[in-house]
Amino acid sequence: MQRVLVIDKHKRPLMPCHPARSRELLKAGKAAVFRRFPFTIILKEREGGDTQPVALKIDPGSKTTGLTLVADFQTGKQVIWAAELTHRGQAIRDALLSRRQQRRSRRQRKTRYRAARFNNRRRAAGWLAPSLQSRVENISTWVVRLAWKCPLASISQELVRFDMQLMQNAEISGIEYQQGELQGYEVREYLLEKWGRQCAYCGVKDLPLEVEHIIPKTRGGSHRVSNLSLACHDCNKEKGTQTAAEFGHPEVQAKAKQPLRDAAAVNATRWALFERLKLTGLPVESGTGGRTKFNRIHHGYPKAHWIDAACVGESGGTVKLSATHRPLLIKATGRQSRQMTRPDQYGFPRTAAKISSTAYGFKTGDLVQAIVPKGKHAGTHVGRVAIRKRPSFALKGFDVHPKYLKVLHRSDGYSY
Ligand SMILES: [Zn+2]
Repeated sequence: MQRVLVIDKHKRPLMPCHPARSRELLKAGKAAVFRRFPFTIILKEREGGDTQPVALKIDPGSKTTGLTLVADFQTGKQVIWAAELTHRGQAIRDALLSRRQQRRSRRQRKTRYRAARFNNRRRAAGWLAPSLQSRVENISTWVVRLAWKCPLASISQELVRFDMQLMQNAEISGIEYQQGELQGYEVREYLLEKWGRQCAYCGVKDLPLEVEHIIPKTRGGSHRVSNLSLACHDCNKEKGTQTAAEFGHPEVQAKAKQPLRDAAAVNATRWALFERLKLTGLPVESGTGGRTKFNRIHHGYPKAHWIDAACVGESGGTVKLSATHRPLLIKATGRQSRQMTRPDQYGFPRTAAKISSTAYGFKTGDLVQAIVPKGKHAGTHVGRVAIRKRPSFALKGFDVHPKYLKVLHRSDGYSY
């Protein structure tokens, strides 16, 4: 059950409560709704109260990030709130690309020749592409939003897919990877990354892949990760006791010897997020993807972003959750558009310059309730409002005068 976040009259966090309790409090007038998303109530009289430590656990993904609050009760660790945050990396990339192309064509149209001008800009250390930076900002926004509505004691983040340090050492110094089941998961994650999640021999995808020895064990092949690849069941069976070269795939043998170099770059966003989370001053636990999967499969939990988040790190080994828990779905939408006017396909201005997006205390994107007393659209409507120039705003395909509107949730760059 998704718990309700609670703050006291001085807006300090209290222990999240059961939704039935919050309904009681709201009905008795002892509390008021403070935010719709995430649902938060403010107690009118209470000051302070007992809290148990709550951990925020994060599984950052390229499309969707899992965010889960885990309370450390006397009965054990329990998921009390979860969300899945969908990023807008691709939308940012597309917008920047189209702007760049229009600018390019505008500058090259009917102009004299100018010497090429490039390579004359600098990027700050730790620069990330805007689409990646937006993911870091999305997550840290939500960490801040949760941190003051909930008694956070620690943060856990999945930092890397697999333990690079262990892996590199394994490939360089040849430590055998037979030190228990957990290492097996780390090795598998590493191999999935290295072989692009497909069979190294026939390239088939979306089939169960088996860890396979390039030089078979029976021919003296080792258990080192540099001797391992992934094959589908059929290829593995067909290859039998042949080496990869004998099986007609010398390139597999060559690729296996190269350590995975770009893994560090793949993980750049996660490291940037890790540095950002440390700035909160809370203890930050880091975990690997191998560990997350190990924890999740040992509990028999299904795959979901919020469940992966709950299973992050060492503390994820004992977490309890209900698979029917419904997480809050959050989608990053951005706040406004920087464009002053919409261009046509050639980059020429197509519309009038944009007008203000705020009027009469409302802003485009605010979630509002409209109670229209009479006319064709009489009744109660809930939706996102769009500001128009005349004092009558667009709501769900018709116009409503602002005097009938009440804000339920301010536009905050996300949709729910
Ligand atoms: Zn195959």
